Amino acid sequence: MSEAEPARDAPDGAAADELIVVGCGTVVPEADRAASSYWVSSPGTESAPDTRILFDCGPGALQALARLGLPWGKITDLAITHFHADHVGALPGLFFALKHGLARPRNRPLTVWGPAGTRGFLQKLAGACGDFVLDPGFSVLVEELSPGEARDLSGGPRLEAHKTPHTEESVAWRLDGGAFSFGYTGDTGPSTALGSFMRGVNALVCECSLPDSQATDNHLTPARVAELAAAACPRLLVLTHIYPHFRMGHDVSRLVAEAGYAGATCIAREGLGVSLTNG
Ligand SMILES: [Zn+2]
Repeated sequence: MSEAEPARDAPDGAAADELIVVGCGTVVPEADRAASSYWVSSPGTESAPDTRILFDCGPGALQALARLGLPWGKITDLAITHFHADHVGALPGLFFALKHGLARPRNRPLTVWGPAGTRGFLQKLAGACGDFVLDPGFSVLVEELSPGEARDLSGGPRLEAHKTPHTEESVAWRLDGGAFSFGYTGDTGPSTALGSFMRGVNALVCECSLPDSQATDNHLTPARVAELAAAACPRLLVLTHIYPHFRMGHDVSRLVAEAGYAGATCIAREGLGVSLTNG
């Protein structure tokens, strides 16, 4: 299992190609985990800045970022999978904190990546909460990616979207740097194409919401995760978004293994750090 504690002493949170789980919960509030949010950092080069990207920003994510000592004020990119509140609920608070909660005002732009409708979604948030959502005192660039589209982040890694069967707009994300790769399913129903899309990533954060006895079209169960992971062959499969009634009393990793997936698997928890470096 490729698992390591995050580099807590890194002053800028980008000392290594690394995933840190910020929030791995669901719509159900829980004492020990925020809703969906994942931090990926990658050091820059002489010609490209560091990358610090937050995938989704569900309720509780901001407090978890603070608990983990992550430099939330220095995020370079934000990637949204879909507009369900357990994935975007903390966005107004994040923008409010970026505007008013930093010791020194921020200058560098922030790019928000999302599926079709992201710009309109943020405009509605701004209409309800205040102009700070899209105008927090620095440039907020909104980039909508259709499934199959890819773009280079300012720091260099390439971000690609893939459709997921969950909501009309929902996408999964794959991030490839020169020395690492990362995949995040967001919320998804069964999809063989998604497994192929994630092929060979160093770490695949994959939802496993429900037991096989409660299989639905818009979430995954251990049997469906095993199929997807067998196609993706990640170096490490990180199971997340497990509903509390399912994670309590069940060894979800073992259920995925018993469903036929033999690769390295772990359960997401707040603060879990995974090195994304190849090799
Ligand atoms: Zn959802």
